[in-house]
Formats: sequence, structure tokens, C-alpha cells
Amino acid sequence: DFKRVSSIYLASDKRGLNMLEREYDIRRKHGLPVGFLDAGTLFSTHHIEGPGALKNREAAQMDCYKAATGLLKHHIKKSGLSLFSHTEIVEYKERRGGYALLTGDGMTIRCKYVVVAAGFEAGKFLPRRVMNLISTYALVSQPVEPSQLWPERCLIWETAQPYFYMRTTLDNRMMIGGEDVEFRNPERRDRLLRWKIRRLEKKFKGFYPEIPFVVDMAWCGTFSSTDDGLPYIGPWPGRKRMFFALGYGGNGITFSMIAAQLIKNKLKGIKDERENVFGFER
Ligand SMILES: Cc1cc2nc3c(=O)[nH]c(=O)nc-3n(C[C@H](O)[C@H](O)[C@H](O)COP(=O)(O)OP(=O)(O)OC[C@H]3O[C@@H](n4cnc5c(N)ncnc54)[C@H](O)[C@@H]3O)c2cc1C
Repeated sequence: DFKRVSSIYLASDKRGLNMLEREYDIRRKHGLPVGFLDAGTLFSTHHIEGPGALKNREAAQMDCYKAATGLLKHHIKKSGLSLFSHTEIVEYKERRGGYALLTGDGMTIRCKYVVVAAGFEAGKFLPRRVMNLISTYALVSQPVEPSQLWPERCLIWETAQPYFYMRTTLDNRMMIGGEDVEFRNPERRDRLLRWKIRRLEKKFKGFYPEIPFVVDMAWCGTFSSTDDGLPYIGPWPGRKRMFFALGYGGNGITFSMIAAQLIKNKLKGIKDERENVFGFER
């Protein structure tokens, strides 16, 4: 379910437009592929009323669940990877030359290295708080006729905070989301869902009132981000054999790939300059 589609980063207001103009210059300076759409072009090509947008033709969408489970299946088959799902690590002990991890059902796993990739729940493995937790909301519509969807079926997101984004699926549904709020507890997050559904639907209708959007399913989830917006990838100072990969924010697809490359390089003793950007000592 991987598909190349263009993406539109929409200025929600004048401030957003100024930010996108700066972003455009920076991307151009570093040779990244990007285009700028002024208000007129944005309306004529994408039927969106707005002050302007960045357009990127080098973009893609995929089904993350299929990608993650597909990767695991591939490595189980190809390299004999052992996978223990639904196995909680409740405690760990540093041993000479590695770690002993205690599972929720009382088993012990011994290993030379540990990679803690426990998402927004990784905090308990760290001596200090480095993550901010955020709840986010998403909806998927019933399928529509392909001809009813917006031009190029591009990925659309905007500069406003909380933001709004939308995309289509291969079976001609629309997936929209955003409305992020600070996470306090799962009950509060879930209680807000009905209200958030209405807000997201309204937001969509503001963009494309002519497209019939009938909600088929809605959900919410929590992710973690950091104060400077970059994830932490690497060992905690002093714990050479315990690696962390956390705080991806809303960019889990991109940052998880960088985390995999960085940690693999570290384990193989290959120098990787990105350590300085993503490490805990930055
Ligand atoms: C609704 C929603 C929409 C999003 N949309 C996008 C998007 O469009 N693009 C994008 O790039 N990102 C998106 N994100 C963000 C992305 O999902 C996250 O950044 C990413 O999933 C984080 O990956 P992770 O591996 O760190 O953690 P997770 O994906 O949360 O995985 C952590 C795993 O660790 C397990 N775990 C936790 N504690 C323990 C323990 N003690 N022992 C054993 N296992 C444990 C958990 O059960 C879980 O399986 C979205 C997030 C949400 C909630």
C-alpha cells in the first residue's frame, strides 16, 4: 500500500505564510525539491482557498501497520528473527556485558544490548523526563467515487496549531486527523473523541464542502515529542549498551528509519554524524 503522491503544506494564515516563505528559501538553499503555490495557483490547481502553500512532488503515503508487520515477517523468514509479542518488560538490571530484562510473566531475557523503542511509554526506562505526551485524533470516511476526490489525491496538512491533515486511501476513503491536545490520561483522551470527530468533519467541509464525507471509523492515540521537536536516538550517557529511540512526534515514519540506521551503525562501530543531532547530549 505504498503510493507516491504529491504533498501540500498549506499556510493557515499570514503568519503561516511567512513561515512557509522562509521554509521555501531554506529548502531551496539545501537543494531539496520544493515548489511554492501562491493563492491564485493554489485555488486553480487544488481548489483550496488559502494564502499560499509549499508543494512537494517527492512525497508518498503508506499503510504503516502493513509496513511494520511486513518488515517483521520479512526478517523472521530471512534471518530467523525471534519475535515475542504481548511481552511486557517490567524491570531491567545491568549485568557485566549486558542486561537482564524481566518480563511481566516472570521470565528473564539476557542480552548484550537493549534498544528501548517503547513509544510514549518509554519514560519509565529513563532517569529523567525528556518527552511531552500528546493525544491526537483521526477519522476515516466511507469510500467515495474516485472522481469525487480532490486533485492529485495529494497529502494536505497545514501550519495552524493544532493542525489538520488529510489524505486518501487506496480504497478511495479519506483519512483526516489532527486536533492534538496535551495528554493527561487515557479516559480524558477518549472522552474527547466525539467532540473531536465533529470538529475534524467541520474542518474538512471547510476545505471541500462538495465531497461527501461520511465517517466510517474514528480513533485516537498518544505519541511523544520533545522540547526541540527532534527525537532522541542513541545511548543514555553512561549506559553504553542501552539505546533509546523515542520522541518522534508526528513523524514516526521518517524518524524511526533514521533511528534504525543510527543504532545499527553504532552497533557496527560505523561513525554517524547524526549522533550529534539526535543524541541525548545535544
Ligand atoms: C492517530 C495517530 C496518527 C499518526 N499519524 C502519523 C503519520 O501520519 N505519520 C507519521 O510519521 N507518524 C504518525 N504518528 C506518529 C507515530 O505513530 C509515532 O511517532 C510512532 O508510532 C512512534 O513509534 P515508536 O516505535 O516510538 O512507538 P510505538 O509505535 O508506540 O510502539 C511502541 C511499542 O512498544 C510497546 N511497549 C511499550 N512499553 C513496553 C514495555 N514496557 N515492554 C514491552 N513493550 C512495550 C508498545 O506496546 C508498542 O507496541 C501518528 C500517531 C497517532 C497516534
